[in-house]
Amino acid sequence: MMRPVIRSAALRQSLAALAADEAAHLPLTALDTVWIQLTGTLCNIACRHCFITCGPKEDRVRMMTRAEVQNSLDECRALGVKEIYFTGGEPMLHPEFFAVIEDSLAVAPTSFLSNGILIDPAAADRLRALFDAARYSLDCRISLDGMTAEENDPVRGRGTFQDIVRGIGLLARAGLAPVVTVVEHALGMAATAKRSAFLAFLQGLGLDRPRVKFLPLLRIGREVRRTHGYGDDDFVRAGSLDRVAAEALQCGSCRLVTADGVWTCPLLLDEPEARLGATLREALAPIRLRWAACHTCVAEGLQCRT
Ligand code: SF4
Ligand code: SF4
Repeated sequence: MMRPVIRSAALRQSLAALAADEAAHLPLTALDTVWIQLTGTLCNIACRHCFITCGPKEDRVRMMTRAEVQNSLDECRALGVKEIYFTGGEPMLHPEFFAVIEDSLAVAPTSFLSNGILIDPAAADRLRALFDAARYSLDCRISLDGMTAEENDPVRGRGTFQDIVRGIGLLARAGLAPVVTVVEHALGMAATAKRSAFLAFLQGLGLDRPRVKFLPLLRIGREVRRTHGYGDDDFVRAGSLDRVAAEALQCGSCRLVTADGVWTCPLLLDEPEARLGATLREALAPIRLRWAACHTCVAEGLQCRT
């Protein structure tokens, strides 16, 4: 089995990890959520805060084939998985994106995470048709990091604000209600007044009942170059995790499927030691919270799921 090759200095910088016996231990209580790294690290943009350093030329984790996804979906069905998320990179770059989503909707409620740039009128209509025909729910998550181009474009790239906003508007016009995710890339982005303003802004784009999810910054991947990485003490050491914090962690009930095997969670794609096996069944094991990113999950209560 091929392992991903870690190429860039920025990624190597993020690889500090505790020895397994020094890190907090976490059992898998149930496999409720499965993430699927559909397009590997391939994305149509290269955000400066991307915690897994995706981009148009980032092929270090390859795209999954529809057949590989189907194998994982079969496992999901057999294991009673309750929800499936497609991520990347940009999942809509997959040549069989709509077919893969349809396959997934035959198994469980399905979400996909996108930057929204590839949503045109035809794509919005196809998503609406899948939504109408599916037995389970279909949810779109669109990333937008500000209410103006001045706020969003310095992290997501010039012109992206306009393209993302157009995509959200097209989904709204098709009668779909995406969850808009905002990364707290600047101080005060998740303040209460800002949240209210964001909801009003989304209503202005045509979303009757807007939903917003604010996500804390992860100081790994490309973010290390934009600002900084974690400090030497930013770890979750054995004995430091109480029961309430442990129960809130997503990795107690999720796993990430990639073309190269199954990892603990969507955050640790670039950590070869976070690989748990070739299949979901092989990954039904307790884990150790060895990585600095675990500090953000514990300290900020980060949940990638909606
Ligand atoms: S943050 Fe999302 S949209 Fe931006 S480069 Fe990474 S995967 Fe692509
Ligand atoms: S990064 Fe977060 S979700 Fe992943 S193993 Fe660590 S605590 Fe769990």
